Amino acid sequence: MPDLNKLTIAEARDALRKGDVSSVELTQACLSAIDAADALGAFAHKTPELAMERATAADARIKAGDAPDMCGIPVGIKDLFCTEGVPSQAASKILEGFKPEYESTVSGQLRDAGAVMLGKLNMDEFAMGSSNETSVYGNAVNPWRAGNSDAALTPGGSSGGSASAVAADLCLAATGTDTGGSIRQPAAFTGTVGLKPTYGRCSRWGIVAFASSLDQAGPMTKTVRDAAIMGAAMMGHDAKDSTSADVPVPDFEAMLTGDIKGKVIGIPKEYRMDGMPDEIETLWAKGTAMLRDAGAEIRDISLPHTKYALPTYYVIAPAEASSNLARYDGVRFGYRAEMAPGDGITEMYEKTRAEGFGPEVKRRVMIGTYVLSAGFYDAYYNRARRVRALIKRDFDQVFADGIDAILTPATPSAAFELGQEVADPVQMYLNDVFTVTVNLAGLPGVAVPTGLDRNGLPLGLQLIGRPWEEGDLLNTAYALEQAAGFVEKPARWW
Ligand code: GLN
Repeated sequence: MPDLNKLTIAEARDALRKGDVSSVELTQACLSAIDAADALGAFAHKTPELAMERATAADARIKAGDAPDMCGIPVGIKDLFCTEGVPSQAASKILEGFKPEYESTVSGQLRDAGAVMLGKLNMDEFAMGSSNETSVYGNAVNPWRAGNSDAALTPGGSSGGSASAVAADLCLAATGTDTGGSIRQPAAFTGTVGLKPTYGRCSRWGIVAFASSLDQAGPMTKTVRDAAIMGAAMMGHDAKDSTSADVPVPDFEAMLTGDIKGKVIGIPKEYRMDGMPDEIETLWAKGTAMLRDAGAEIRDISLPHTKYALPTYYVIAPAEASSNLARYDGVRFGYRAEMAPGDGITEMYEKTRAEGFGPEVKRRVMIGTYVLSAGFYDAYYNRARRVRALIKRDFDQVFADGIDAILTPATPSAAFELGQEVADPVQMYLNDVFTVTVNLAGLPGVAVPTGLDRNGLPLGLQLIGRPWEEGDLLNTAYALEQAAGFVEKPARWW
């Protein structure tokens, strides 16, 4: 079988079962692809020996029969996940040298299911960013290029390494995390599928915390079917995370019938933004028509508090981040700054944090401590929490009115050039305008590649579902995927 790294999870699973291919062969194909793709900056830490060990064990398990779907599937793991004995740095200097003695629940579930970790994937520092340009490892690069230019494009962020690796076939799939859009936006920028599950579906235990009330792990894959397979393997109740929900995880793949007759799809008028490129508008209309043709009923809806979502998010997320990142002080994890004679513990904290955190992380810590400070707590943080409740209520209301899923653009543009937006934080934050509402309301959302723009770059649409109904959401995404028939791949330049 040629190009084993190009297989989907479903194809590889079936080939492994039939004995047409071994996990060792799949893993070798991915490791060679990774070694030939350093220009993409997708993998920050490679773990080839570990991968071969796990692949060998997976082959034995498959031979013995009864192996789970993910057994023998080579995957990449975002650097935000703690992985036992393997550097887990959240792409930050402050976690340099940190090798956890434990495995995050999600990566542990994948490992126990027999998935083969190829290494750790690049990302924005502490998952703060939308372009993978805040990483201590340097940029991850999008394998896609605009037809008329060879400028390097962002793969999106913060899960930029994951998106780049999946789009370039360096792995069959990858884990991502999504606090405000970090799975869905990079997926949309790279022509891949990204699922952010309902808050509480995937355990947060062992994942470096950014904003604990928003963070959720999810799969980044080549197809919706793969998102169903890998998503199910990542989810489930975990007593070690008090916000993990004890809700059964159904067989999502079995729910992919593509039949969406009678489903009601909402089109929210507030997601039509000033200055949005025509192409996004056209794509959205096309996606709407595809779902209508597949038998869904289309209804115009209103989510009136959408316009407050971005400012609300950029109060709540930094507030939680400033608290979560207080633990990085040079004492327990990773990096500690050089001390001068006479320095005490305060100098140690200050120097370590000044040297260990990058500018975007510092900006968030400062905004966060400001909005939580005694004089401003009510004016900013408490007000943002109240607006968050209204944003959630908008969604509750439309779901109560019979809406099954909501269709929106995933991003306000296609992938932009590296360096283009990084100097202007507000410009960068605008990337999340369609995705942050979903985190604030704790809902599941999925980005599905739906077309190319005039420069040949992928564009995605987002579907937002009812809480805990990822199966139904994925089935609608599957119908959209079938109708869109997106099969394009980036032309190889790396
Ligand atoms: N881009 C958003 C931010 O910078 C979202 C990041 C994320 O989802 N982790 O906060």
